[in-house]
Amino acid sequence: MTNSDLIPLGARPIDRAGHHRSDPDWLEAAYGREDVLILVMQKGLPLVAPGGGLVWMGPEIAKAAPDARRLFLGLDKQGTPVFAAGLRDDFDLDGSLIAGTGEFMDFRMAMTKLSELEANLASTARSIFEWHKSHRFCAACGVENEVTEAGWKSVCPACEAQHFPRTDPVAIMLATSGDKCLLGRQKMWPAGMWSCLAGFIEPGETLEQGAARELHEEAGIVCHPANAEYLCCQPWPFPSSLMIGLLLPAENEDITVDKTELESARWVSRAEMRDVLAGKHDEIFAPPPFAVAHHIMKIWAERDD
Ligand SMILES: [Zn+2]
Repeated sequence: MTNSDLIPLGARPIDRAGHHRSDPDWLEAAYGREDVLILVMQKGLPLVAPGGGLVWMGPEIAKAAPDARRLFLGLDKQGTPVFAAGLRDDFDLDGSLIAGTGEFMDFRMAMTKLSELEANLASTARSIFEWHKSHRFCAACGVENEVTEAGWKSVCPACEAQHFPRTDPVAIMLATSGDKCLLGRQKMWPAGMWSCLAGFIEPGETLEQGAARELHEEAGIVCHPANAEYLCCQPWPFPSSLMIGLLLPAENEDITVDKTELESARWVSRAEMRDVLAGKHDEIFAPPPFAVAHHIMKIWAERDD
């Protein structure tokens, strides 16, 4: 098993200090502290400094964006409170007090410019803010929810239903057959990029059963859930998946692609996979290192069984 703490987006987590979430006085004071660290997001995009790295704001953000959503992310190693400020969609950066500090950057592009810790925090904030947006109204009665617990919960003021951020489990896997593994590609991906197959786990299904079902549905490959091997996992904020990496030995090699899911699938040898990861394969390149698929492919490629 691989240490998921080393996988990007989940790496270098801070102390979430959840006991502070229900203490509004503490949160208010922390947000105003001189040393507070506040990352800024708008429409799910992080504010990135010109030279790379997140733009870290201090208490001045309360003045620059008084109606920003506040999310308490935790305490860093020094015990400094860390927050995210979610700006309203109509917030005009250029006309604001924080103009010139950086730019809102496409999340995937930003991932290549952030430290592991920053990527983890931005990823967490993105998931929570997207949840606020998509779960604004009570699912039970339709009244607008009130966000509480420093951003981590919402409560309906009418029927008192409580709502919590969701995390959707996704199996992401390689079927293996001897010295080969199965890669697939979707039509919308950049030409030449191949990756693991993946799919959401359905209610009533184990992780291993879901992985085997997806391999069969998408590529016609039969695997026994009992033979699945867990590798590692990664929080993936698009909007709130937990990507859970597996290997599954295949019972057959005949591929039958479901064209609604995949453009194509193929077996790749371990030697080929090493070339893929080294950027030396003529036809195939791997997803970037911030994606867990890259690490699953690497873990398998580096094995000698
Ligand atoms: Zn309600």
